[in-house]
Amino acid sequence: MTLDELTDAWLRGVAAAGFVPGVRARARAALRDLLEEFVAAVRAEPFDPAPGHRIGAELVDLRMSAPPVLGTTVHLLGGHLPAIVGAGDRVLDLLDSLVTGFVAAQRDAAVRAAEEMNRSEKIHWRAVQLDLQRRLQQAVLHHPDTGLPNEQHLRKTLAELDGDGRLGLLLLSLDRYDELADTLGHDKGARLLAAVARRLRPLGVLAHLADDQFAVLVTGTAGPDDLIKVADQASRVLAPAFPIDGHSLHVHACIGLVERPVAGSDPGRWLHDARLALRWARHDRRGPELFDPGRAAEERRRHRLAAEMPAALDRGEFVLHYQPLVRLADGVTIGVEALARWNRPGAPGPQQFIQVAERTGLIHRLGRALLEQACREGAARSGDLLISVNLSPVQLADPGLVATVADILHRTGLPAARLQLEITETAEALPYRAALIALGDLGVRLALDDFGTGYSSLAVLTGLPFTEAKLAAEFLAGAGHGGVLRHIVEACHAMGMTVTAEGIETAEQEQILRDLGCDHGQGYHLGRPAPL
Ligand code: C2E
Ligand code: MG
Ligand code: MG
Repeated sequence: MTLDELTDAWLRGVAAAGFVPGVRARARAALRDLLEEFVAAVRAEPFDPAPGHRIGAELVDLRMSAPPVLGTTVHLLGGHLPAIVGAGDRVLDLLDSLVTGFVAAQRDAAVRAAEEMNRSEKIHWRAVQLDLQRRLQQAVLHHPDTGLPNEQHLRKTLAELDGDGRLGLLLLSLDRYDELADTLGHDKGARLLAAVARRLRPLGVLAHLADDQFAVLVTGTAGPDDLIKVADQASRVLAPAFPIDGHSLHVHACIGLVERPVAGSDPGRWLHDARLALRWARHDRRGPELFDPGRAAEERRRHRLAAEMPAALDRGEFVLHYQPLVRLADGVTIGVEALARWNRPGAPGPQQFIQVAERTGLIHRLGRALLEQACREGAARSGDLLISVNLSPVQLADPGLVATVADILHRTGLPAARLQLEITETAEALPYRAALIALGDLGVRLALDDFGTGYSSLAVLTGLPFTEAKLAAEFLAGAGHGGVLRHIVEACHAMGMTVTAEGIETAEQEQILRDLGCDHGQGYHLGRPAPL
């Protein structure tokens, strides 16, 4: 949803309550301005919820002061703005302040009106005010379609928790509800939600956070298993079709779970952690996901890492170490493998930061920089030392890759025959046959890395220009009984590939692999990665 669409929905909601005073276009412009102010306040650094108060008061000044207006406002802004501008917690803080501002402005207006009244008018007004107050409460703390407690309500409940017991929070989101609501129309959508609510209600204290999102508080759990049982029950009760107006509708829900002792828990974390677990459930599609602090910490670390990497690359913090590739027959170093290092105290190893770079897309820039560095440093060495550089499967998907490699070879002056590109044997890499063939045509060597850990059978390799197979270190564990290994080495040779054994840590292993016919070896026993 865009801000414009949200403005229109807001205006519709306000109008449905019959409270658009004056010219509609002017009312829309006014709401649009308020929305802009709200968004600016969400984004402001440092964050301050005070502007919400003023926006609430302005709604009253615009004579949009009926309870449904406030309910619609809280519902729409709270439901959609986090997706548009992020910072869901800020949106909610601002909405809290908006509600206070709205209520205060309304009270002030009432007081001003009351000053001009006689005694019996005042008594009547007092009753109207109390009723208004009650309806405001209802509007602010409940979902308009189901009348269930909403997110504000749930947050208040969670904030007021105390006691010795444990508690479970189940967060449930309906898959593709937006699509359903679009085809059904709002009324039928609302009826579906009401029907969903009826089925969920027996499971615990039910809240309705956003259209497609429900929460169930389960008190007195003895441990996570109890909550998982409730989650299974929720999936079961939602499974039968919902008959709505002759349609038979199926809904599927993803479920995130948090279960922990009440004492010592941070009230703000309950929903936050449940949302994270829900995100995992949506992503992994393995059924209900229980919040796991280890996984959450790992994700936070990854996010921090991802955020720091581009600047680190600009500062030249990524460097290469080189590990010798040794010919087993005579012990001569015929090449080196370039291995990326993040040159910063406490930095993670390449497995981690390469994976993060792959996810963020930084791998393209990082991979280019590393390849260029390896080729430059390699070209500066005389002789025919082979420079072996790892390529991520993500880089293979880049249509500009072949041109980039050609350009780097040209600029650094490294002969193509001295460059080897290592491609890990994964399901992602092998479909890029055209790219692999074009790389082979450049005259560079191609090595299949970590062979034996992945997916390919030798048959997949036919027609691909691999010149070398690097046997994964895991393979060496079984090298003592060389039966399978000997066959693999022979098959690789028959396909015209040389064979490198990785991870050689002892003289015995070196001997066994030499006897098995491996051409080259790599490992701590033969040389550790180090600057060239
Ligand atoms: P890889 O390409 O299979 O690299 C071999 C890894 O095994 C290296 O770990 C190396 O230090 C380690 N190793 C070498 N000899 C031994 C040994 O005797 N015993 C044991 N246990 N390990 C040994 P490293 O440097 O941590 O790299 C890990 C992986 O990260 C690499 O596996 C590669 O997949 C990836 N990687 C490293 N640098 C780059 C890069 O520049 N680009 C890309 N795309 N991936 C990279
Ligand atoms: Mg490698
Ligand atoms: Mg390897």
